[in-house]
Formats: sequence, C-alpha cells, structure tokens
Amino acid sequence: MMKKKINYNYGECEICNTQMKEESIKQDFWIRGKLIVVEDVPAGVCPKCGEKVVKADVGQSIFRLIESSERIAKAPKISVPKIKFVVEEARI
Ligand SMILES: [Zn+2]
Repeated sequence: MMKKKINYNYGECEICNTQMKEESIKQDFWIRGKLIVVEDVPAGVCPKCGEKVVKADVGQSIFRLIESSERIAKAPKISVPKIKFVVEEARI
C-alpha cells in the first residue's frame, strides 16, 4: 500500500551498506512497565538485514506521543502473547 512518496534519503545501512528504503513501521516502547505500540512511524528500513533508522524529529514526535498519558488511556488495546523464560526449554 503506497501512502506517501519517499521524501527523505536515509542513506545506506550502517551494517551492510544497502540503500535504506522509507517505510511505515510499528515501534514498540515500554513506558512505566506498559508496552505501547506506535503505528505508522516513518522510518528507513534496510531491505537486506532489516536494520531500522528513525529521524531525530520523528523520534521527538514519538516521545511526545508516548508521554501523553491521556492519549494512551484513550488508545485501543491489543493483547500480546506473554511467555516465561525457561532455561531447559531455551537450550537446544
Ligand atoms: Zn542492512
């Protein structure tokens, strides 16, 4: 789904030197013990290794969004799977 034209050059991936592509991504944050997902975040994504880069001003906008407890209280909730780490099962 094409929403916006690419309007920012994210340059090359720091890890594998592949040209980054602009995509809308989901970013997750833990705020005061709660998981918050921010959707439609414009970011540079490496098509080869999946490395993500977010512009500084976008990062600041996200920070303001997730600092608003009123906005978070009104936001729709999703449920996520939660599993406990078990040493025996994690060992292959
Ligand atoms: Zn890469």
